[in-house]
Amino acid sequence: MDYLIDQAAQLIANSKRIIIFTGAGISTESGIPDFRSPGGIWSRYDPDEFTLQKYLVSEKSRKLHWQFYKDGKLFGSGAQPNPAHIAAAELFRMGKLDCVITQNVDSLHQGAGVPEERVIELHGNLRWAYCLDCNKRYPMNIIMTQVSQGAEDPHCDSCKGILKPETIFFGEALPQRALSEAAYRSRKADLFIVIGSSLVVTPAAFMPQYAVDGGAKLIIINLTPTPMDGYAAVVIHDKAGEVMSKVLEKVKRFSQL
Ligand code: NAD
Ligand code: ZN
Repeated sequence: MDYLIDQAAQLIANSKRIIIFTGAGISTESGIPDFRSPGGIWSRYDPDEFTLQKYLVSEKSRKLHWQFYKDGKLFGSGAQPNPAHIAAAELFRMGKLDCVITQNVDSLHQGAGVPEERVIELHGNLRWAYCLDCNKRYPMNIIMTQVSQGAEDPHCDSCKGILKPETIFFGEALPQRALSEAAYRSRKADLFIVIGSSLVVTPAAFMPQYAVDGGAKLIIINLTPTPMDGYAAVVIHDKAGEVMSKVLEKVKRFSQL
């Protein structure tokens, strides 16, 4: 393990355009469950109820969604960035980070100090909701206050349209601009670090492939194996927070040499 930490740190020390690509696994140490691990979100909720198609036509599905967000622990209201998010922010301050590409909707990268414009959110976010008819945007906390006061299926106060969080649902296209920017930057990276993603959800999971095709070295830090492990220069199957804080310590030491 120490040898792998050294190798990862050396790659980081020698790189200038680093992309950190994250999935739900970077936030489990902040107390937010991932989807697919045992005890993850899909062991408690039925994914079939969480499609855009159902949300548009079924009041029952919408009520279930808002109940799900109200059950704050699942999506991290009050969750704090952990050492892995903090390490990513530290790489930004060191001038090494090109951007973070995340599949997460929890905003913990920004919470740790990576500027908003350097975080590409492929699956949207939970900071905002919007009206599907007139597009009016609402801070999510305002809508959640209404939900906690009894609104089970909140609607737009201007036009009575259906409100939806800015998270991307199953059956919904990914935001085109974020996706093309992520693909473009991935191809130009010199080092691509995957942290806490099973790399099975596409097209997000294509990004490490674009990076490798563009000549980047690949580091994967994930508890369990991923389909991209064979392409990586360094693979560490351990906890993101613990690994990244050790890696960062070493990077700082190498940078002083
Ligand atoms: P995933 O659940 O498919 O995979 C998470 C991976 O992280 C797993 O392979 C697991 O082994 C690993 N993991 C768990 N804890 C870890 C830790 N402490 N250190 C290192 N690795 C760890 O998640 P995914 O690849 O992100 O895809 C699922 C989608 O679900 C995401 O794209 C996202 O949109 C959504 N989601 C978001 C959040 C969030 O915002 N925090 C939480 C759950 C799901
Ligand atoms: Zn409206």
